[in-house]
Amino acid sequence: MTDTSQRVLSLIVNDSSLDPDLRRIAEKVEAGERISFAEGVILYEKAELGYLGVLSNFVREKLHGHKTYFNRNFHIEPTNLCVYDCKFCSYSRLIKQKEEGWELSMNEMLDMVKKYDNEPVTEVHIVGGVLPQYDMKFYSELFSSIKAHRPELHVKALTPVEYHYIFKKAKVDYATGMRLMKEAGLESMPGGGAEIFNPEIREVICKDKCTAEQWLQIHEEWHKLGQRSNATILYGHIEKYWHRVDHMEQLRQLQDKTKGFQAFIPLKFRNQGNQMSNIEEVSVIEDLRNYAISRIYLDNFDHIKAYWAMISRNTAQLSLNFGVDDIDGTLDDTTKIYSMAGAEEQNPAMSTKELVHLIKQAGRHPIERDTLYHVVTDYNDYVFEEVPKPQFYKLPVINAMEVERKENE
Ligand code: SF4
Repeated sequence: MTDTSQRVLSLIVNDSSLDPDLRRIAEKVEAGERISFAEGVILYEKAELGYLGVLSNFVREKLHGHKTYFNRNFHIEPTNLCVYDCKFCSYSRLIKQKEEGWELSMNEMLDMVKKYDNEPVTEVHIVGGVLPQYDMKFYSELFSSIKAHRPELHVKALTPVEYHYIFKKAKVDYATGMRLMKEAGLESMPGGGAEIFNPEIREVICKDKCTAEQWLQIHEEWHKLGQRSNATILYGHIEKYWHRVDHMEQLRQLQDKTKGFQAFIPLKFRNQGNQMSNIEEVSVIEDLRNYAISRIYLDNFDHIKAYWAMISRNTAQLSLNFGVDDIDGTLDDTTKIYSMAGAEEQNPAMSTKELVHLIKQAGRHPIERDTLYHVVTDYNDYVFEEVPKPQFYKLPVINAMEVERKENE
């Protein structure tokens, strides 16, 4: 941690006017002790943004100093048609709305990969809707074809929602299914589909897809193979604070067991174009509180990640002072998931230079990573080559005062 983050935390710990519960939590954070479920709920119910910023920044800087990670990636979204009907989903169209959807063929997806042949991307991120034709055989062939074409491109693909569906259809258990996916070329799993683990909330917002237990079990099987994955939470809709803590508690317990998660990614519920549009979105303050509490609660997760495409560049920049140490990817306008839900970024793409600038402006140290957090380039002292300015013909300058002076001569 930096001296400043330690000093500011000490001020809080020594503040006798502070609520005793919050003071005890601050002491625990300073001592590197784990906070309890009940304390997680107290943070959500009582803690103000400033206090949470101090605690989460202390933890963040203890783990990473000023280092802030990003990667160069692109997305492939095979289809936005889906057999499920999650109420918060702005992205999917039911099969009966086929005319509003897309279904990419194997060749179309491989062409997308080839489009990046001369680009220094390190990862392809594949997620989309669930359809019968995108089965185990299809995805095995897709992964192996991508690896055959570009072996060093990391394949991060599909969530337990898709895996549960395709394994069931193929009549294989989770352990066998994940092993076969790994053999086909899958290298890591993104964190989606987790939503909120509580079954009552799930029953209302996403009752048809895999359960929380199944989601956790599939990650566990994947981790047992020595592989890594991420985890998400969808917050800010009908859940209560304790549901968020319960969600993180289940992740924390699995992480104690497997150590396979890399990053936790809080996903904000956006209310456009879905069946929960009547629910007001939470404020930016609540977004930042949520990042901060995640950082404090999930003491066994290395990284807290913000999707700038979902929360906007400005909030992503702010989040770097509230526990976040990773801002996802250059994206290159290859994802529609956030824009269709009403995110400010309608064509999300950032150049490396822009991402580096965004991180540096926040006083942090930008590092391009690969999917497994190996350093690709350290941009702290990096100077970008100046792009030569366009040349223009020099035009005679008409200076009104000069003309007037000449006329008077
Ligand atoms: S959230 Fe995923 S599983 Fe649910 S409807 Fe949307 S695309 Fe389908």
